[in-house]
Amino acid sequence: MTNERKFICDNVSVNGEGHLCLAGSDVVTLAKKYGTPLYLMDENRIRNRCRTYKDALSVAFGGSAFPAYASKAASFKELYRVMASENMYIDVVSSGEIYTAAAAGFPLEKALFHSNNKTDEDIRFAIENGVGYFVADNEEELAAIEREAKKAGIVQKVLLRITPGIDPHTFAAVATGKVDSKFGSAIKTGQAEKITALALKKEHIKLSGYHCHVGSQIFSVDVYLKTAEIMLEFIANIKSEFGFCAEILNLGGGFGVRYLPTDPEVDIKRNVIMLANRIKELCAKLDIKLPTVILEPGRSIVADAGMTVYTVGTVKRIPDFVNYVSVDGGMTDNVRYAMYKANYTLLAANKMNEASTIKANIAGRCCESGDVIQEHVPLPSSITRGDIIACLTTGAYNYSMASNYNRLPRPPIVMLKDGESRVAVRRETLSDVCAMDV
Ligand SMILES: *Cc1c(COP(=O)(O)O)cnc(C)c1O
Repeated sequence: MTNERKFICDNVSVNGEGHLCLAGSDVVTLAKKYGTPLYLMDENRIRNRCRTYKDALSVAFGGSAFPAYASKAASFKELYRVMASENMYIDVVSSGEIYTAAAAGFPLEKALFHSNNKTDEDIRFAIENGVGYFVADNEEELAAIEREAKKAGIVQKVLLRITPGIDPHTFAAVATGKVDSKFGSAIKTGQAEKITALALKKEHIKLSGYHCHVGSQIFSVDVYLKTAEIMLEFIANIKSEFGFCAEILNLGGGFGVRYLPTDPEVDIKRNVIMLANRIKELCAKLDIKLPTVILEPGRSIVADAGMTVYTVGTVKRIPDFVNYVSVDGGMTDNVRYAMYKANYTLLAANKMNEASTIKANIAGRCCESGDVIQEHVPLPSSITRGDIIACLTTGAYNYSMASNYNRLPRPPIVMLKDGESRVAVRRETLSDVCAMDV
């Protein structure tokens, strides 16, 4: 083999024709077959990541701990079917996600319903669909859940979202565990304790425990060790004050993935073991029962299973300044660079054997100068109209954030498994784009 090159994820390779492959399938061939722009997803990678979390948690904690896939990262029916077949729990954040999961036959008693602002309709819809756990963000919401559960004649299991006050040292726009966050009730301000007292008085709410989520794209396990410490001390205080023993401690999601070769690789298994050891130690020290620990990975389940494939259109060279390579997608299928300068690795998929001797900004086709997918991308100097460009690690927060800006139809999602490909979400048509117009 002449092409034993290392990429950011081991499902990426190059074949004898110098074409990029995902999960062993030729990306250039797939682009021809399905058209571009195109989202690809490696199903086995998703399944493997689920199993890594499940096995690590159940071994490290001895049975009861489990992961819940944060489905906002990528939400469509086929993915919920994969989650169901892997016996995963899921997070949902809206009626739309609940509806999609239900339509896919996902057993919603294994769902946790998040969001900082669930409407009364959302709450009713979730109860009707038998969502297992609500994660209540604030007092008003707790009251609304109580009202709706009473009407439905049920007792709803609820976790309370707590703000532990941690800055996870990631990009501020995705840091949600700080005291000034729009999410949750802070321990520091006494609101976490107050909402606990309220929840314990509600007849149609069974308080099952606590949730927190401190941020995203986190590489250091120390953030989770510190978070666990704060949460367990809080749980111990609550126990001595109210005699309430939390059954569940949900520490949220956030483990990072590799977007660039310089990003480290997170060892999930090792981190989960370290976390379990610390949690067991703290429970013994604080004299509390070991709760059922939940982690909620989103990005780290699906991100590197995904790849977006584009066809090059305009190539513009502005001498002494910059080169622009425009592709047939953009901020409509990947808004993350425009939104918070997220990094990505892009490659000329049909020219993998050519050296990269120029740099170019990869621009989208939207009428918006901020419509850039990435800047200063190394590419072969021969890059031209009709070439295929692949953007790696787009499985999380790309399709789920996609829009129809400029009335661009959204790309399809094609799932890859064992050398086969199949459409999981079809390409939008021009008539889909105005389907809602009266
Ligand atoms: C977004 C989110 C997650 C998933 O975060 P990732 O960084 O994708 O792992 C988990 N839990 C909650 C509550 C979230 O809001």
